[in-house]
Amino acid sequence: MKHFKDHNLQKAAQLLEGSQYLVAFTGAGISAESGIPTFRGEGGIWDRYDPIILDIEYFKQNAAKAWPKIKEMFYKTIDKAQPNPAHKILAQWEKRGLLKSTITQNIDNLHQKAGQKQVIEFHGNTRDLICLNCNKKWPVKKVDFNQNPVKCPVCGGILKPDFVFFGEPIPSQAYQDAVNATLQADLYILIGTTGIIMPASLLPYEAKKNGAKILEINLEPSNYTNTITDIFLQGKAGQLLPALEEILLNKNK
Ligand code: NAD
Repeated sequence: MKHFKDHNLQKAAQLLEGSQYLVAFTGAGISAESGIPTFRGEGGIWDRYDPIILDIEYFKQNAAKAWPKIKEMFYKTIDKAQPNPAHKILAQWEKRGLLKSTITQNIDNLHQKAGQKQVIEFHGNTRDLICLNCNKKWPVKKVDFNQNPVKCPVCGGILKPDFVFFGEPIPSQAYQDAVNATLQADLYILIGTTGIIMPASLLPYEAKKNGAKILEINLEPSNYTNTITDIFLQGKAGQLLPALEEILLNKNK
């Protein structure tokens, strides 16, 4: 871990140690090292697919065209993916009481797979499907997923993944929980997010306005880096989080 032993890493560890209410805000970048492509950046999903596929109005009119692409985009990779060291460190921090809440924009279930319980899924998840006709929710495993489009076993309506499409509102409970956590935070750690997708991207600004310090981990500068970030750690989440944990554990020896 030698090359990460820089000044910023030490300062970040100090902030973590002194925090009373740490909140993590995660984006697609934290799961990149688990083999799930991000939207943007090298090899990103938008290099290969048209974002219109995830537009709610397009989906309603073109479900049979959209479903095979949605399966390729998310379900093939997410099914097989396992938590990487970044998810595992967050789970350890939650268990130790250091991390109070994680607001994730991800839909991949990897925080929970790593053992976290305090996860706010701001954009829903891929585990469930929802019927556009009768509103019933179905776990993917309970439906015939090979159909095209995938249909409700009860009413035959079209099933949509229960994650938030472009043009859809944020689930109200998740929104409320995210705002509550944000307003309690004295330290906010941003991991692998560009800060482009609204309204999720506004939460870190609210945290900052409310007095929280902002620690950021990303491969490259984001919308936050030169605006609200107090400490920027540039690199892979799967390397930087273990490096921070190593410093924290050594300090407590
Ligand atoms: P994004 O795809 O727009 O950008 C990814 C960000 O992660 C970039 O800033 C990139 O520099 C950074 N990054 C890439 N690899 C990294 C690594 N190893 N370590 C640290 N940082 C890394 O992602 P976004 O800002 O989260 O917004 C896009 C939307 O994408 C979210 O709403 C989310 O729902 C959706 N999405 C989710 C998944 C998933 O569930 N895993 C995958 C793709 C997209």
